[in-house]
Amino acid sequence: MKIIDLRSDTVTRPTPRMRRAMAEAEVGDDVYLEDPTVEKLQERAAELFEREAALFVPTGSMGNLIAVKLHTRPGDEVILDSRSHILNYELGSLAAIAGVVPRAITTVTGHLRWPQIEDCIRPNIYYCAQTRLVCLENTHNMAGGTVMSAKETHEIVASAHARGLAVHLDGARIFNAATYLNLPVAKLADRCDSIMFCLSKGLGAPAGSLLVASRDFIEQARRVRKMLGGGMRQVGVLAAAGLVALEESPAKLAEDHLNARFLAEELLQLNGIKLHLESVQTNIVIFDISGTGLTSAELSAKLKENGVLINGISHTQMRIVTHYDINRNDCKQALSIIRKVLKNSQSY
Ligand SMILES: *Cc1c(COP(=O)(O)O)cnc(C)c1O
Repeated sequence: MKIIDLRSDTVTRPTPRMRRAMAEAEVGDDVYLEDPTVEKLQERAAELFEREAALFVPTGSMGNLIAVKLHTRPGDEVILDSRSHILNYELGSLAAIAGVVPRAITTVTGHLRWPQIEDCIRPNIYYCAQTRLVCLENTHNMAGGTVMSAKETHEIVASAHARGLAVHLDGARIFNAATYLNLPVAKLADRCDSIMFCLSKGLGAPAGSLLVASRDFIEQARRVRKMLGGGMRQVGVLAAAGLVALEESPAKLAEDHLNARFLAEELLQLNGIKLHLESVQTNIVIFDISGTGLTSAELSAKLKENGVLINGISHTQMRIVTHYDINRNDCKQALSIIRKVLKNSQSY
């Protein structure tokens, strides 16, 4: 049975070109700054974002943590969206390791607006913790892959800087946002003080993320990466796949977005399923199954028996993520399995 894996865009396997590049990569010890392939990847990333420097990190979570740690001191406050990845899926590392206090704002789209942020800035009084950092997420994962426009980003960054706050962009899927808006990623990063993006998601590399910022910031980031145990040796084998990902993958994302849209429109036709089409902008579809009489764990298990992998994100909500290992036929097949499973369970 062919498995159709719609759990995440992290499940993609390296393309033949990536595997060849990995096999042939020129490598050295990156802790000694001697891996030419890593250097090349970091230069390429900096260039794409029109910044001075970049650092290859093992995971997006580590990239985010390094950034939060460098922008703040223990006891400072960080403003972020209540459903953000940094707050919900990084094990509280911002508190446990960087020692900062998250100030979470509830949003509809996942995207903060400046007036809400401004309301949460702590007064400059000696007995108040100080607000230092705003974290943005584009696209926003748990809001369903929603995109923050360049204009909104610009507004927040300009206003935050005017108030002395730094801005970090969790751009795990920034290339999806850029595809949706048909803009270069550099435009969406605006003047954010640091940017993290993942090679391991829709871009399809087996592992790795990049932290992009000024040269000074990246030098400090290299120290923190080592402190966290993230100094790697002949990691050019991974960087080589990353370079291929940056070159060949962004152009494929539009197809993932069309597939997600197709799945969303078809799901909307099914009894008991609800979703907001306007939030399906990129490669993520979050849908509500309360009306089916099944919990997401139950539906997930039934689908799995039939070769379709979809995870719940709560008792009543599930998330589909499209990626380059999923084509339109896979989508159609997944839909017919979803229809069959729902029909069988609703006729009891
Ligand atoms: C996946 C993801 C990350 C980083 O995840 P890792 O698994 O640590 O690479 C960060 N932010 C968002 C929004 C993500 O989706």
